[in-house]
Amino acid sequence: MHFKQDFFEQLPDFYEEVLPAGLPSPHWLAWSDDAAALLGLQQADEPLLQQLAGNQRMPGASYYAQVYSGHQFGGYSPQLGDGRSIILGEAVGPQGHWDVALKGAGPTPFSRHGDGRAVTRSAIREFLVSEALFHLGIPTTRALAVIGSELPVWRESLEKGAITVRLARSHIRFGHFEHCYYSTGGKAERVRQLADFTIAQHFPHLDCDAAGYQQWFVEVVEATARLIASWQAIGFAHGVMNTDNMSIVGDSFDFGPFAFLDTFKEDFICNHSDPEGRYAFGQQPGIGLWNLQCLAQALTPIISSDALLAALRCYQPMLVKHYLQLMRQKMGLPDASAVPAENDLALIGAFTTMLEQQGLDYTLTFRQFASLDPTSASSALRDEFVDTAAFDHWLAQYRQRLGPIPDVGQWQAQRRQHNPQYILRNYLAQQVIVAAEQGDTAPLQRLYRALRSPYDTTSEFAEFSQRPPAWGEGLIMSCSS
Ligand code: AMP
Ligand code: MG
Repeated sequence: MHFKQDFFEQLPDFYEEVLPAGLPSPHWLAWSDDAAALLGLQQADEPLLQQLAGNQRMPGASYYAQVYSGHQFGGYSPQLGDGRSIILGEAVGPQGHWDVALKGAGPTPFSRHGDGRAVTRSAIREFLVSEALFHLGIPTTRALAVIGSELPVWRESLEKGAITVRLARSHIRFGHFEHCYYSTGGKAERVRQLADFTIAQHFPHLDCDAAGYQQWFVEVVEATARLIASWQAIGFAHGVMNTDNMSIVGDSFDFGPFAFLDTFKEDFICNHSDPEGRYAFGQQPGIGLWNLQCLAQALTPIISSDALLAALRCYQPMLVKHYLQLMRQKMGLPDASAVPAENDLALIGAFTTMLEQQGLDYTLTFRQFASLDPTSASSALRDEFVDTAAFDHWLAQYRQRLGPIPDVGQWQAQRRQHNPQYILRNYLAQQVIVAAEQGDTAPLQRLYRALRSPYDTTSEFAEFSQRPPAWGEGLIMSCSS
């Protein structure tokens, strides 16, 4: 790996140096060729294993934990920071640079009472979801590898320590700016320093002046709106949308008790520690705005309130526009300026309401849009529904809106490109984790292969496109990681 050290060299007040504690008996549990290609890495060899396990120094790396704050479940936590993640710097790849972080590498000055570790189960989940979201076309941090070990780590029971090697375009979170703002009593200097760095690194088309800052915030709002629209369209619940888990570049970030929906349920809660449902699936768009408001407050020293409010007002229309575009693609509704957005949103909403009322699987039902044929009354989509009268009523409206389809085969093939066959269902993750914990990583490799081609048209991995068994339906995860 070839590193540059821009964050480390330019922002010395924004981190603490810390070395990894090391992992005994490290071994590869997972490796992503796709992520490796981003860094121009050829192979997962022994020296690299020892370096990523934190047992040997990586040439060119610095070792640091960033400081940040954040609103957690609505309350402000002034002193967070990387409690179990150590960043090595920005690795320069063939098409850009990637922060490399060892998640679970041991305690840092920000660990508070935590042990700085991650366990096998959470490391595998982070690996799989990062790569799954990427292949679904959703902005996300990436995962290069999971390294397992014999290190005993105590959670609800005794588990083993592991490291996820995370690649991120940026590790800067909304919470970084909140830290700059609140820890200085709202002084501009520190906020500006971080904004200038962020813009130079990630928004290089903008200037670091008043107009540039304004436009930058507009672009952060837009990236966030697009991200959350894409979560809603694919049926992904993040689970812990605290502001310290919100990436400034709009990537899905910091995975814990996330879930892809099985049965469609607007108020689905995937986080065991969130009984009130603050971060329920259907709350995510509103929480995105709430989090952007926190960020806006932290930017008041460098951007006028009027400009911040104007940008925030664009959030909802941007999100709806992007969501509508994605859902039209899923359902095969042509973008038609003559059709008011409200009409299509009502048609889409009527469909998801039916899914919810009839207890249907979100992903599998949408996949069956590829079975629709305007010349035939029956379809695999219709067969999914118990209350076929309700479906037929909806279908009549849908057909009217759809209009004629010139080439049915092509239309159906396009539906398969927008409605995945494979998502990372919690029960699937659970199955491969149990096997990996017992030393068998073959199921993990196989699931990973399926998730690399979520829109596949073969049935090579048919066992992964099933509804969950009773024990696996709507699994709720604990935050413990
Ligand atoms: P998360 O819920 O993973 O976003 O974590 C929230 C905060 O707790 C972050 O500052 C983490 O670094 C920290 N944290 C979570 N788990 C641990 C752990 N096992 N040891 C130390 N810090 C942790
Ligand atoms: Mg976090």
